[in-house]
Amino acid sequence: MAIGADRDEIATWARVAVERGVDRYPDGLTYAVPASLGVLSPGERVIVPLGRGDTPTPGYVIESTGSPGLDPATVKPVLRRDDTAPALPRDLVDLARWISGYYMAPLGVSLAAMMPAAVRRGVGRIERRMIDLAPGAPTASGLTAKQRRLVEVLQEMAPTQRPVEAMALADLAGVRTRGPIERLVGRGVLLETRRTTIEAAWSARALHETVPEQLTEAQATAVERIGSVLEAGMSTHVLWGVTASGKTEVYIQLIMRVLDRGGVAMVLVPEIALTPQTGGRLIARFPSHRVAILHSALTASQRHQQWARCASGEADIVLGARSAVFAPIPIDRLGLVVVDEEHDGSYKQDRQPRYHGRDVAIRRAQVAGCPIILGSATPSLETWHNATRRGVSTLHRLPERVPGMRLPRVHVVDFAQERALRSDRRIHLLGPTLESAMRHTLDAGGQALLLLNRRGFANYITCPSSRCGWFMTCDHCDVTTVYHRHRGLPSGGYVRCHHCLTEQRLPAACPECGGRIVTFGLGTQRVEAELVRKFPQLVVGRTLLRVDSDTMQRGADFHEALDDFAAGTVRVLVGTQMIAKGLDFPGVRLVGVVDADTAINLPDFRASERTFQLVSQVSGRCGRGQDPGVAIVQTFNPSLDAIRLAAAHDYERFADLELQARQRCGLPPVTRMARIVLQDADHARGVAAAGRLAESLRGLDPAGGLRLEGPAPCPIARIADRHRTQLELFAPEAGLLQGVLAGARNRGLLRGRGVLVDVDPIALL
Ligand code: ADP
Ligand code: ZN
Ligand code: ZN
Repeated sequence: MAIGADRDEIATWARVAVERGVDRYPDGLTYAVPASLGVLSPGERVIVPLGRGDTPTPGYVIESTGSPGLDPATVKPVLRRDDTAPALPRDLVDLARWISGYYMAPLGVSLAAMMPAAVRRGVGRIERRMIDLAPGAPTASGLTAKQRRLVEVLQEMAPTQRPVEAMALADLAGVRTRGPIERLVGRGVLLETRRTTIEAAWSARALHETVPEQLTEAQATAVERIGSVLEAGMSTHVLWGVTASGKTEVYIQLIMRVLDRGGVAMVLVPEIALTPQTGGRLIARFPSHRVAILHSALTASQRHQQWARCASGEADIVLGARSAVFAPIPIDRLGLVVVDEEHDGSYKQDRQPRYHGRDVAIRRAQVAGCPIILGSATPSLETWHNATRRGVSTLHRLPERVPGMRLPRVHVVDFAQERALRSDRRIHLLGPTLESAMRHTLDAGGQALLLLNRRGFANYITCPSSRCGWFMTCDHCDVTTVYHRHRGLPSGGYVRCHHCLTEQRLPAACPECGGRIVTFGLGTQRVEAELVRKFPQLVVGRTLLRVDSDTMQRGADFHEALDDFAAGTVRVLVGTQMIAKGLDFPGVRLVGVVDADTAINLPDFRASERTFQLVSQVSGRCGRGQDPGVAIVQTFNPSLDAIRLAAAHDYERFADLELQARQRCGLPPVTRMARIVLQDADHARGVAAAGRLAESLRGLDPAGGLRLEGPAPCPIARIADRHRTQLELFAPEAGLLQGVLAGARNRGLLRGRGVLVDVDPIALL
C-alpha cells in the first residue's frame, strides 16, 4: 500500500517510535523513507501512517537503516517531516531508550516526555521578514519616491542595525503599504531573509542575595573535594547538610568553576514551590541571561523560549523541576548536575514514563561523564544506602548551620495529653502549647508557619448514632470523601473525593437513619477557621493565608503569597507540604506541625521516612534569622523514632535504624522493587488476570530469586469505578528484576490499558 510516495522512490528505511503508546521497545516500527525526504536522522520528528486506517501519527526517528529487515512490500512510507518541532538531540534519544527499557514505558511515550508540548507545537514562534540592502545591488534608477525613501532609510542606518523587520522599515520610511518593499525585493535592490524568534514575556525575579564572605570549613572542604574531580569523569556526591548549612553556596561555587571552563550546569529542584527562591538566588549570583529556567508554571511560549535557549547553548545554567533533566544541553558541555532536595517525592513522575528525575539525572551525568551532586538535609534511604553501605557515591557532610544561625529548638508535644488539658468539649486542632506559642509569637511581632498535610475541612463525614454508624464514602472509590466548607452554598459546603474528584453537596441528614450528621478529622481549612476564632486580629487573605492546592491554583498565586509573607504583611501561613520545603524567611519565629501523624498510619513502608523528613524539613524553616525560633510538633506518637530523632536533629541514627528495619523486611533500598497494578471495572476478571500474570512472572524466574507478593487488593482497592489488584516484586538486585520484567514485556504480558507498571515505586496506595 503506497501512501503519498511511489515504491521506486524509496531510498532508505527508518525505525520510528510513535507517540501513541505502542510498546515496541527498543526499536520502534519500521517505515520506508521516500527519497524526497533525504536522510532522516535519529531524533527527527515525522508523521507516519498508523494502523489499519493509516492515521497520520507523530513519532520520532530512532535510527536509519539500510534494509527494512522484513518484507519491503509490507512497509509503509513516512508521510512527512513534522517541521513545527525541532529534532531531539541524539543523546536524548538514547536517554529515552534507557528510560523506556528501565521503567518499562513505551518508547514513543518516553521520547515525547523529552520535549515540552509547547516546543513540539512551536508555541510563541514568530517568523519575521527581515529586510536589508542587497549586497552589490545596482544603484537603482527609476525608483518611485516611496521606494527611494525606503532605500535611503536603510543606507542611513549603521550596518549593525540592519536587517530591519519589514514593518518597522515601512514605518521608518513613512510607507503604509507593503507594495514598495515587495517590488524592491523583486528587483534585487533589497534582500529579504526570514528570522525565527520565540517571543515570550519573561521576567525572572532576582532575589537580594548576600555573598558570604568566607566559606565555612565544611563548605570549603566539600567544594575542594568535588572541585578536584570536575574533570575526572562521572562521580556521584551526596551533600548531606542540615538546613541552612549552606548547601546552595557549595553548588554555586562549583557551578562557577564549571562555567569558567565553558561548561554548562544543570540544577534540579523538586517543585515550583522551591524554584522561585533557588532560582532567584542563582539569578542573583549569575547574570540572568545565562540562566534558563524550566518549570510547570511557565506559559507555553516561555517554556519554548527557555528550551530553545538551552538548545542553542546560550544558557550556561539550566534550572528546573523534574522534567528539566531532559533539557537539550549540548552533551559535551554538560559539566555538573545538581539535584537539590534529592529525597523529594516529586522527582518521581506518576504517569508514564514513571521515571525518577534523580535517577535519570544520574544516568545523564554518566553519559556526559560529569559529576553529580545529590543534596539534602534528610537524604532518601536509597541515596544514604548508596553512600554509606554500597560505596557507589562519596558522602560530604555539612554538619552545622552557617555562622549566625542555630538549629531551632524542637518541642514534641503529646497531643493526647494536650487534649486532657482542655476543659471544653470543642475540637481544638491547636493544643494549649501551640496556641500559647502562637499568641506569644504574634504579640512579639513574629511570623508563624503552620503545617498540616491535608486539605479541606474534615475528612470524615459520619452519623454519630451508635445504631447506624453510616460513613460517607465515594460512590466510585473505596475512600472517605473530604468535606470542603464553602460559604456560598446553602448547606455550607460540598464533599469531594480527592481521588476521582467527583463532588457532591454535603447531605443535610444521614441518608440511612435521617439523623444528624457530623464531620470530624482535620484539614487546612479547619485550622484556618480555628485560628480566626482564637486570634480575631488575623484577617483571612490579608494577615492569614492558606497555602494549599485549593487556594493556590496558579504558580503566580503561590509567588504572591510568598512575597506577601516575605514582606511581613502576612503574619501566619497555614498550608500543606507546599510550605514545608525550602522556604527561607528570617522572620519566622514559630513553626507548628499540627499533626505529625498524617503519614504514619499509611500502609506504606516509607511512612516513617516521610514523617522524619516532614518534621525535619518543617522545623528547618525557622531559626533562619538570628533568633533560632521554636518548632512545635503535635503528635499522638511522641515516642516514635521518626519523630523523636527528627526533633533531636539526628538523621544518622534514624537512617541506621530504618535501614536495619528495611533489611529485616527485605524492602528497598536493600532490595529493588517494582509494582504492577491491574485495573479492571470487573473485579473478578482483574483478580484472575493478576493471578495469571503472577504465574507467568514466576515462570520467568526459574531460580526463584524474586519475591512476589500478591495478587492482593491495592490499599485503595477501587478508584473511579475500577478495581485495583496489585503484584509487588522484590529482588536482591536490579538486574534480576529488570530481566524478569523485560521477559514479561517481550511476551506482551504488560500490555493493555489497565496494566500499570511502576519500577522503583514510591507511591504504594
Ligand atoms: P541550605 O541550602 O543548606 O539550607 P543555604 O545555602 O540556603 O543553606 O544557606 C543558608 C543561608 O546562609 C543563606 O542565606 C546563605 O546566603 C547563607 N550562607 C551560606 N554560606 C554562608 C557562609 N559561609 N557564611 C555565612 N552565611 C552563609
Ligand atoms: Zn472517588
Ligand atoms: Zn445514621
